Formats: sequence, C-alpha cells, structure tokens
Amino acid sequence: MENEGGEQMKVGLYVCRVREEWKMMLSLDVRVDVAWWLEGGSGQRALRWLLLGRELPLSQASWMVENFEMERGMDQWGEEHWQAYMQRKLEKYERASGDLEARGEIAGKARIGAERGAEVGRMPEPYPAGEWAQLERGAALLAERLRGRQLLAAEAEALLADTSPQLASGWRAAAQLAHLRGRLSITAALEGPATQRQRLAWLGRARSAPRCRRCGSFAGQRVPCAACGLAACAYCEACLALGRSRACALLLRSAAPGGVPRDASQRGTAVAPTEGGLARWGLSPAQSAAAAAALAFLAQPSAGDGPGRFLLWAVTGAGKTEMIFPLLQYILERGGRALVATPRRDVVLELAPRLAKAFPDISLATLYGGSTERWKDAQLTLATTHQLMRFYQAFDLVIIDELDAFPYDINSK
Ligand SMILES: [Zn+2]
Ligand SMILES: [Zn+2]
Repeated sequence: MENEGGEQMKVGLYVCRVREEWKMMLSLDVRVDVAWWLEGGSGQRALRWLLLGRELPLSQASWMVENFEMERGMDQWGEEHWQAYMQRKLEKYERASGDLEARGEIAGKARIGAERGAEVGRMPEPYPAGEWAQLERGAALLAERLRGRQLLAAEAEALLADTSPQLASGWRAAAQLAHLRGRLSITAALEGPATQRQRLAWLGRARSAPRCRRCGSFAGQRVPCAACGLAACAYCEACLALGRSRACALLLRSAAPGGVPRDASQRGTAVAPTEGGLARWGLSPAQSAAAAAALAFLAQPSAGDGPGRFLLWAVTGAGKTEMIFPLLQYILERGGRALVATPRRDVVLELAPRLAKAFPDISLATLYGGSTERWKDAQLTLATTHQLMRFYQAFDLVIIDELDAFPYDINSK
C-alpha cells in the first residue's frame, strides 16, 4: 500500500534571472539547482539567483510558481524586496485558500512569514561536483522509468523500489535534474486555490474547489492531514483508490510523450492495411468491414496535433473483442504502444490470456487493483480504467471498452 502519512513534502523555492527573464522554480533538492545555474551544469549561467525558501510546504510553493509574474523593477530588487514579495504572496495565498480561516490561526501568519523571510538569500551548497556525472545517469534512468507516467511521489517511490532500487534513496536529486532537463514536471497534486482576480474572471463559480491534476476532478473534501499538519488539507475523492491525491502531495509527470516518436510524414504514408492483415483473425464479413474502417482511420494522416477518435459501436455479442485485434496488430507491428481499457476487472482477467495468445511476441502488462505487474513497462497494456490515471501521453492507440461498464452486460465477449 502507498504510505499515506509519510514525511511532509517540503520543497525549495528560488528565483533566477536567465537572459531577459525572471523564473521562479520549485526544487526537490536546491543543491542541484545551484550546480545547474551557478556552476555550469546547464551550460548557461543565471545572472542572478536567489533562494526564497529552502523548506516550504509544497502546496504553497507550487501555488507561488503558478502565480508568478515578472514585476517592474525586479532587476533592482534586493533581498528585502524579495522578502516583502514573499510576505505579500503568502498573504494572498492564505486569503485565497482560506487556510487561516479554516484553522482559526490568524496569529500564525506573521510568524510563518517571518520564518520564511529569514531564508531569503541564504546560499545553499552546490551539489558535489564529483558526483554530478552519477547524478546525470540517475536522472536519465529516472526519466526513462517514469516515461509516459504521472505518479504521486509515493507511487514513484514504489515504482523505483521495484524497478531501479539504486535510485530509491537519492531520487529527489535525480528527479530535480530531470526536471531541469525538461523531462519531468513537478507540481502539487492539486491545483492551488484561485486568486480573487481569477475568480472574478470565472464568473459563476463563486468559490472553486481545487482541481486534481491526476484525474481532473474538483477536490472538495478536506481532512486533518498528518503529512502537512493542516487541519483541513484538501484531497480528491474521485481517484482515492490509487492513493490520496492531496494538496500537499507531489505529482511527478513525464514531460516527453511516452509513445514511439512518429513524424507526421511517416504516418501519412503508412501503407493501408491489407486484406491479408485481417484474414489472420477469422472475422465475419460484418466484423471485417468494421475493422477495415477502423484501420483506414488509423492509417490516415492525423489532422492537426490532437489525437484522433474513432467510435466502434457494436451490440453485445457482436464480437467487439475480435475486431480490436487487427487494430492492435497494426500499431504493435509498427513499434507503437497500445492500451486496452475496460471498467471491469473480470473483463481484464478474461482478456489477458487471449491477448497473450494473439500477440505472443509482444510484452503485455495486465493492470488492475492488486495486480503484481503494476509497474511493468510493456508494449501492450491491458488495464481497468482506474489505472489509466498513472499514465500520461503514453500510448499510440487507446481502446476503451465503455459498454462493459454496465453490470448486466453478461453476454459481453
Ligand atoms: Zn483525483
Ligand atoms: Zn496535507
């Protein structure tokens, strides 16, 4: 099981001026950022670099980054300006989130602010230069393991413990370098509260609950939280089955698409699937016609950047399952990654041996609650729909069997 308690996720926060731009960034290990921006790790040197906090609660730091805007005169700001800036932003955050109101702790504000302010400008040690090459290898491996995934920190730790135990202890530094290299995004699992200005812009939604970044639902529930110490830490109920997505939880998301890179020209000139490709599956004429239409859709050049959608509607007992085999074959033969998802665990279990038999040379991961293959990286994935939240842009073909959501659909193949 995921460790829900765990230690409090604290992160570093800093600003830096690179060329014409001020950036505000989160850090899982500020030593990595110091080496990156000031010791040549990035190949470009920050003109200014200033630590705003070394151990801030993730939800607040993440909100600060989301709401960061360059202000006039920043180039001339000294530490005291940045201290005042932090103070101002924290007050804004607390007003927006209603945390203080919920905790009845108005007096706490000044104290917390002063404590954080005291950190502004303190320069951390850089990551040891002698260990940098090893860190680069660790970051590359971690980015590879998390490719096509979005995971809470606890899930990422479980995945690494399973697949790359050598990264288990130092994963935060490796993840930070992967983040700086643009291969991993790091945020709080819930979006921060809307500021007054944003709320005015979204007329009609008076007081918005934060949105869950993992599943997209609004997270209206609040509980006392052992991890961050808040009396009312927001969490998402909709995706609770995969571990608690909390305001104070870290979400790691792969930045590079997980599927096989495929340029448009290649896709456009893809050879239309032949009759022979369909014959292998022993389909009826009606099944063949439907599968051929779906294949023609897959083979056509994609319009625009967005993924295409194709609806195959068939009544119960029409043999939908057989019809998806040629589609899977088409993608898998081209080195792509495919997913078949259904809301029902029993359908997953029934389909797994059939897919394994149909595609004996293809790696298959079967995912459902309690599955031992939950971190397996395979070309073909079969999963309950819940498990999809652990993936992010990971597949070239996604087949979702929605009709099986109906519990009385007992004749379904
Ligand atoms: Zn959620
Ligand atoms: Zn919390």
